[in-house]
Amino acid sequence: MTNPETLGAKRTGAGDALQLPEINVEEKLFQNRYRVDAGHPHIRIIAPAACEGCGLKPCTICCPAGCWRFEDNKIELVTDGCLECGTCRIICDLDNIDWNYPRGGFGILFKFG
Ligand code: SF4
Repeated sequence: MTNPETLGAKRTGAGDALQLPEINVEEKLFQNRYRVDAGHPHIRIIAPAACEGCGLKPCTICCPAGCWRFEDNKIELVTDGCLECGTCRIICDLDNIDWNYPRGGFGILFKFG
């Protein structure tokens, strides 16, 4: 089991509860490196028009990298920065996503992972 104090948690005094450090997700994501495979996105919307009828548009909410946006009444996908977590593939109610890992040598390079 991980010792919380090795993750930066501290006590301010004897008997005090552990204070967890603040984590800035954007700062953590900025540590990663991404090699773009120009012209070969590894995720593709199969039928973009179908997304207009999707109620919650969960891809725009659940993507940890913010790759999905709903603007001007259409879904926009920018795969640069994708963490390859697969969440969008699983969460799409319409099964409207063609998802593949990037070609060798491209995609995310995690600095802490
Ligand atoms: Fe976002 Fe994960 Fe889908 Fe990449 S695989 S676009 S990070 S939800």
